[in-house]
Amino acid sequence: MAINIEVKYSKILDKLLYLVSNVNEPDYNERKKICSDVMTKFNKLEKNNFSEKIESITKIKFTKDIIFYFIPGWPKNIRFTAISDPPIITVQRPFKEVINLMMHELVHINLNNKSIKDFPEESKITRRHIIVHAILKEVYNQDQYLLDKKMCAQDNGFKKAWEIVDKIGSKKIISDFFN
Ligand SMILES: [Zn+2]
Repeated sequence: MAINIEVKYSKILDKLLYLVSNVNEPDYNERKKICSDVMTKFNKLEKNNFSEKIESITKIKFTKDIIFYFIPGWPKNIRFTAISDPPIITVQRPFKEVINLMMHELVHINLNNKSIKDFPEESKITRRHIIVHAILKEVYNQDQYLLDKKMCAQDNGFKKAWEIVDKIGSKKIISDFFN
C-alpha cells in the first residue's frame, strides 16, 4: 500500500528557524502564502507513485506516512537546501526542483539514512549521496535526472556523487549496496 505524502506550512517551525538563526523575523503570512501556492500545485499531482517508485528499486517499504514541511527558503545563516528529519523543503524555486528535492529526501528516509561503505577517499557528503543518486537515477525520467545534476553542479560533494554514479552505473551501485 502506498503511503500518504502530505505537505504543510508550519508557522511555528518557520519561526523557530528564524529565532535560531538570529535574524529579523519576516512576514509569516506572506511566507505561508508562497508555500500554499506550491502546496496547491503539489496536491494536484497524480498522488502518489513517488514512494512506490523508490520502494520498487530498494525493496524497502516505507513504514509510515510522511509530512513535508515547506518553507520559502532558509533564513540567512542556515545553509541547508533541504533536510530529511523532519523533512523540510525550500520551495521558492521552480516547481520541478521542489519535486526533485522531495524525491531526494524520500530516498534518505527510505534508506533510513544508511550510507555506502565504499569510496573511503571521498568526502562524507559524497559517500552519503552515491547510493541516493544511484536510486534517483533509476526513479527519475531524463528531465529530472538532468535537472538534478544541474542543481548539484554548484556543490562539489553532490557533484562528485553524480560523477561516480555516471561512471560506475546506478544499477551496479544499487546491487552492490543491497548485497
Ligand atoms: Zn541528501
